[in-house]
Amino acid sequence: MKIQLIVVLLLFSLTSVIAQDAVVSSPDKQLKVSVSVTEGKPFYSVTYKNRVMLENSPLGLKTNEGDFSSGIKFLSKSDSSIDKNYTQAKIKKSQIHYVANVLTCSFENAQQRKIKIVFQVSNNDIAFRYELATMGQRLVCVVEKEATGYRFPSETTTFLSPMMAPMTGFARSAPSYESGYQVDAPMGSGNFKQDGYVFPGLFHIGNNGWVLLSETGVSGLYCASHLSDYAKETGTYKVEYPNPKQNNGFGSSGAAISLPGVTPWRTITVGENLKPVVETTIPFDVVEPLYEPSQNYKFGKATWSWIVWQDASMNWDDQVKFIDLASSLKWGYILIDALWDNNIGKEKIKDLIKYANSKNVDVFLWYNSNGAANDAPQGPRNKMNNAIERKKEMKWLKQIGVKGLKVDFFGGDKQETIRLYEDILSDANDYGLMIDFHGATVPRGWERMYPNYIGSEAVLASEMLIFSQGVRDAEAFNATLHPFIRNTVGNMEFGGVLLNKFLVKSNQNRNQRLTTDAFQLATAVLFQNSVQMFGLTPNNLTDVPAFEIEFMKKVPTTWDETLYIDGYPGKSVVIARRNGNQWYIAGANATKEVLKLKLNLPFVAGKKLNFYNDDAAKNIYNKEVSINKSGEFEVEIQPNGGFVLK
Ligand code: CA
Repeated sequence: MKIQLIVVLLLFSLTSVIAQDAVVSSPDKQLKVSVSVTEGKPFYSVTYKNRVMLENSPLGLKTNEGDFSSGIKFLSKSDSSIDKNYTQAKIKKSQIHYVANVLTCSFENAQQRKIKIVFQVSNNDIAFRYELATMGQRLVCVVEKEATGYRFPSETTTFLSPMMAPMTGFARSAPSYESGYQVDAPMGSGNFKQDGYVFPGLFHIGNNGWVLLSETGVSGLYCASHLSDYAKETGTYKVEYPNPKQNNGFGSSGAAISLPGVTPWRTITVGENLKPVVETTIPFDVVEPLYEPSQNYKFGKATWSWIVWQDASMNWDDQVKFIDLASSLKWGYILIDALWDNNIGKEKIKDLIKYANSKNVDVFLWYNSNGAANDAPQGPRNKMNNAIERKKEMKWLKQIGVKGLKVDFFGGDKQETIRLYEDILSDANDYGLMIDFHGATVPRGWERMYPNYIGSEAVLASEMLIFSQGVRDAEAFNATLHPFIRNTVGNMEFGGVLLNKFLVKSNQNRNQRLTTDAFQLATAVLFQNSVQMFGLTPNNLTDVPAFEIEFMKKVPTTWDETLYIDGYPGKSVVIARRNGNQWYIAGANATKEVLKLKLNLPFVAGKKLNFYNDDAAKNIYNKEVSINKSGEFEVEIQPNGGFVLK
């Protein structure tokens, strides 16, 4: 027996010596990535505090100039490190210190063509990408497929949003990252088995912790990717390129790149709890600004008639009412949505902008991104999809004083669509315009890459609260997901804070809001976007308690710090954000019971704070409270309710 055991141990250690070719650890040594080549195939695995977070998972690319996923030989490895500081005004944190250990693994394939895989490992994040060298006389190639996969331990449950099938939904405008989430689902469960899942995806590794998968650094030089369906045979999710049927089948899946060339970064955020997931800055740590801002862009808050008053409000008189509302609230902006080109017209819109400016309000205007991607009929159309028309239009927009655009209804994730996003951003910067994307893909490092980018929808947003009873029923449930998933990797334009009791212009009878006022105020903090288009309507100035309006006047949209305090996606969330010296601690409850939480808030220990909460009858109240010397505070959150401490 003993001898057998020794033989087994010996064999085990021999194979591990053979298989394990390179290891890199985080600066705090807790997060570890091992890279190996087995039978000509490259693999990696991930542990955190010696617990397996990703089992041996495949690496590699397939290009039209050769296969880099099999027939691979490990050539060499090198180690280095990164220590950088940067500032960023429009994400969850303003001053970031990024420290990572770097492992570069060099491989060659059966044709002796070279590829490197670079891993950057910081304390709770892994970012890795492929770097292709020139191939003799070949200075270009097409990356057709990626072998990169993620093999989670079997106890893992998933928090994933299905990728929408191309050319489906409203005016065939899907995929737009608006399909909602299944939570805590076993791997491979669910009915969505065709188009995979969007980034980011959240995974709960039983008692061992959490993993958030995403990608960043996607520019016009590549396509955007998503997660494949779960392959039962191999137990993996893979990085998948766009469905060829997007954009009516026009444009390729995969990426055409210049050599030497790189892929976007695949990111893996790892923690024993959800703190690293909520607080990660990895989408921004590994990218750089792609151009200088043409001016100092001012972020802030906007009124937005369309969300509650809908298409009927797209006229001069109603827009004046929402300019006046922005002025009363001392907000910097109004968003004038679709149909202004017909209903107000290009001549009168100049006068409307003059009127807004006279009230210290600046203007965002809506544009259709189409083009030829889908059938979205709203105008203005055919202005953003072509460089000549776009620059002509933007020159005019600058002349009449427009400060930003909301561009809607994109066609998907193909490289040609990512180029369109980038071309719009780059041209807009030349004309001093900020850009907000709707009906769009999730941003992938864009807050840092493009100085005039403010945010994207890419979420089941407030519009669906107007359209769907099911979404109103699930409002609190969805709100407790976003700080952990969608909103943690990028700015999210949800278009929230709806203070009407009924989500219609008359504020009665139809579309009853099921969440409380304190919940709505909390979402102004829980959801982060550098410019927030809020859902307040003119009647709210007089029909809600004055302290709610005061709160909405003051709440910032940019943050210096963001902290996870408590919560579990789909059940509840409490996070804290700081702007200057002012902390905002906000929470929401999606369970059916009153949630009693003892919060640990050392950063406001001994302070007197303003507390917004719901009473048992779900009516909002506001009072001053004291946080004790040890920073503890007990809060009760009503079902479908929320709170804010500031
Ligand atoms: Ca939408």
